[in-house]
Amino acid sequence: MHIFAIANQKGGVGKTTTTVNLAAALAAQGQRTLLIDLDPQGNATMGCGIDKRSLTLSVYQLLLESATLAQARVTSPSGKFDVLPANRDLAGAEVDLVALEHRELRLKNALALHKDDYDFVLIDCPPSLSMLTLNGLCSAHGVIIPMQCEYYALEGLSDLVNTIKKVHANLNRELKIIGLLRVMFDTRSTLSNQVSAQLEQHFGDKVFKTIVPRNVRLAEAPSYGVPGVLFDKGAKGAQAYLAFAAEMVERVKNWKE
Ligand code: ATP
Ligand code: MG
Repeated sequence: MHIFAIANQKGGVGKTTTTVNLAAALAAQGQRTLLIDLDPQGNATMGCGIDKRSLTLSVYQLLLESATLAQARVTSPSGKFDVLPANRDLAGAEVDLVALEHRELRLKNALALHKDDYDFVLIDCPPSLSMLTLNGLCSAHGVIIPMQCEYYALEGLSDLVNTIKKVHANLNRELKIIGLLRVMFDTRSTLSNQVSAQLEQHFGDKVFKTIVPRNVRLAEAPSYGVPGVLFDKGAKGAQAYLAFAAEMVERVKNWKE
């Protein structure tokens, strides 16, 4: 079981779109996949076609140890993968967890009980470096960082890289950056191409080969509760996420469990 956190503390950079589409694309390739929504916004939950307002159990109860993964997970109606959903309840988790021991390890411990259930676990982190994101980073073997190729993207990246280094040093020796995924890419923009080249220079093979273009079909899909890769499989954005899933499968092939 390979566990990946999809993280970037910057808002609106494509974390949720990446998590949902990668999960659906992996499932389409026969990988047993679990998506974990760690964001109180519940966007990944909704994007998978699950109504966040009608949940009886969610990742919130799991973090507080009042529900197990087996109880709280649901199957995505369209995508053939499992979802541990989230809703507004999760906004209170930060405070509820404050007094508890090993609060950053709640998710990791819950997943440890299910390590034979899945090939891939993808964790959609909220746009912050909060206790929720920390639970994601402590659970994961690696981080996938979606980013837009614009000037300020590089600035924000160093905060995230430093946080990942600290978590690696103090809390999770397994954690590493798997890669930077260029998303919402505009090939015609000179700046995008410059930033993209800079990324390759600085991060080398930590930059994924796949580039996800800006594509309106990916943005439309969530309102139908269907992952973009299933909503319009032929669209450029969907094709990119299918290629990204293949790239991920290839990357983990040579890893030890
Ligand atoms: P937040 O930080 O709020 O959780 P996020 O990082 O999860 O945001 P998304 O919700 O995935 O970002 O994307 C932000 C917006 O950009 C959404 O409206 C989404 O539909 C759109 N979007 C994401 N990727 C693409 C793309 N490749 N092409 C066009 N639109 C996209
Ligand atoms: Mg999101």
